[in-house]
Amino acid sequence: MRNQIAAANWKMYLTWQQGQELLESLASQIPALNGNHQVIIAVPFPYLTGSLEKTAGKKNVFIAAQNISDKKSGAYTGEVSGEMLASIGIPYVLVGHSERREYYHEDNAILAAKLDRALENGIKPIFCCGEPLEIREQETQNAFVETQLKESLFHLSAEQLENVVIAYEPIWAIGTGKTATSQQAEDIQKHIRSVVATQYGEAVADKVSILYGGSVKAANAVEIFSQPDVDGGLVGGASLNADEFLAIIKALQ
Ligand code: PEP
Repeated sequence: MRNQIAAANWKMYLTWQQGQELLESLASQIPALNGNHQVIIAVPFPYLTGSLEKTAGKKNVFIAAQNISDKKSGAYTGEVSGEMLASIGIPYVLVGHSERREYYHEDNAILAAKLDRALENGIKPIFCCGEPLEIREQETQNAFVETQLKESLFHLSAEQLENVVIAYEPIWAIGTGKTATSQQAEDIQKHIRSVVATQYGEAVADKVSILYGGSVKAANAVEIFSQPDVDGGLVGGASLNADEFLAIIKALQ
């Protein structure tokens, strides 16, 4: 059975005081997570160690970094390497979020290198893909996302790919309050799985969790997560509120 995942992306929000309060609230209220249900919380770099401490002992609750350097090590001021993240016990990292692509010019080739740096250090990437509004309006989103997958992901071996979580996040739905319909999410996520199957075989494609991201909230999570190719969500805004995010966790199928 595929992992069903509620992943939080705090982005560049919350002070450490606010973050601690949120983590304490979540840690005390997250229900016992059964086998394939996971919660992943992507926090800013300075909060990684403290967040690991706050969630220690919570089964199936994991802390993620929001970024990783494409370089292994060296004179790269301000960068954080996969080796550094692994050395403090970080199990997951976001790669390819549309905000990184847009504001920090991370192209498909850089993202391929970031995936390599994560995997060679035993860190599982949550690889984000998704189309801008003009591509959706031209109805060429399937081809657009397929190129993102081919250029960043498909150099990986099948064994490596099984350690990747894919997050489909249409850019027009991120932080806009405009959610894809559950059918739109299912259609493209089914397509993503079929593209993965063509490259790696059905058995591998069946194991890969594909999350939906883009204005997921308590009110729409059950409907979106109930789709067969939606294995949970990557959640920005609504993950900053304990009650909202707890309801999203409870919506996992
Ligand atoms: C995100 O940051 O990945 C995201 C989906 O944000 P939001 O839920 O706020 O749209």
